[in-house]
Amino acid sequence: MTDFEKTRSLFYLPEGVVYLDGNSLGPLPLAARERVAKLMTDEWGELLIKGWNKAGWMMMPRRIGDRVGRLIGAAEGTVVMGDTLSVKVYQALASALDLVPERRVILSDSGNFPSDLYMAQGLIGTLGRGHELKVVEPEEVEAAIDASVAVVMVTEVDYRTGRLHDMKALTKKAHAAGAITVWDLAHTAGALPVDLAGADADFAVGCTYKYLNGGPGAPAFIYVAPRHADKVRPALSGWLGHEAPFAFDLDYRPSAGIDRMRVGTPPILGLAALDAALDAWEGVDMADLRRQSIRLCDLFVAEVEKRCPMLTLGSPREGQKRGSQISFLHEEGYAIMQALIARGVIGDFRAPNAIRFGFTPLYIGERDVLKAVDILTDIMINRLWDTAEYKQRALVT
Ligand SMILES: *Cc1c(COP(=O)(O)O)cnc(C)c1O
Repeated sequence: MTDFEKTRSLFYLPEGVVYLDGNSLGPLPLAARERVAKLMTDEWGELLIKGWNKAGWMMMPRRIGDRVGRLIGAAEGTVVMGDTLSVKVYQALASALDLVPERRVILSDSGNFPSDLYMAQGLIGTLGRGHELKVVEPEEVEAAIDASVAVVMVTEVDYRTGRLHDMKALTKKAHAAGAITVWDLAHTAGALPVDLAGADADFAVGCTYKYLNGGPGAPAFIYVAPRHADKVRPALSGWLGHEAPFAFDLDYRPSAGIDRMRVGTPPILGLAALDAALDAWEGVDMADLRRQSIRLCDLFVAEVEKRCPMLTLGSPREGQKRGSQISFLHEEGYAIMQALIARGVIGDFRAPNAIRFGFTPLYIGERDVLKAVDILTDIMINRLWDTAEYKQRALVT
């Protein structure tokens, strides 16, 4: 049984805060603070450029990729770190389209994060080969997979509602139709168990600043199934994906395997913070995490529905059908969330009307859930959100 009291002690959580936004930015792991400080002095400070060899900086994208891989059911040597998730979406999609050159349709859904759709639109323009981005409702993805589809590109957990796609079933259907899959695990990695190899996924990408607690702007990851890894053409053919970067050849030759998905110089400070953050997963059983996450989410839903009837559940009611987050809908959602934040309950708002709460058993327990509901109830019953101050929109919501 995973010791969640112990994992909680690994994080810094400000006094008086109930942090329900780990689905947007995980809190600070104490080990990350120490690791980055040590890197600054002992490695960057003392070793200078020798750090690339002596401190293993150059291999960090692969070594840490393997650590992330263990949390998402990816075999050793199939995941590499770098860039941001939007960039990794572009890379994966470009490589995937190359594997099905005769088809033109990229299938996605309206619950996908806009950046994924924007990157697809940009790539289509760059390719100039008449590809089409077909966006259907999340419930319609399966039925829309047919022999015209080149790539099914979906985010497993819907960022607004937490609705979960069935990765195994969709991948199977895609393969039967001759299509390739690109899975975005932004709200999956560290939130629930995932078995990329078992689901036979082709490509997967994700960020590490959400449930993996790597810190603001932490590097993203990309997974390529071993059957494709030596075959795919990297659209972003940077020098660190070259077979021999320090040969400084004038022509690009992709490195073997997953290394070809590297682009440029890795962000070492961010990787160091992430490396330390991943220590929190030692001894965590993902099945325990899933069970506890569903318990916390169910408790939150039951209490909010009992005490705040003016809020409408915007997430699937059944635990197995959602990720690790709960949304409630209200037309004054923005102001409600500002009032909550002012009282120390931090979640976020997603247009047009969702207040969103992430539940992460690593550092959130039943007491936090009940405290958050108490404060939310006070705000709703007494209309404490109804002030001009809380309706003033900030840059980041
Ligand atoms: C959070 C998120 C992103 C963000 O991409 P960045 O490049 O890291 O800013 C992209 N896609 C999905 C599905 C997300 O949830």
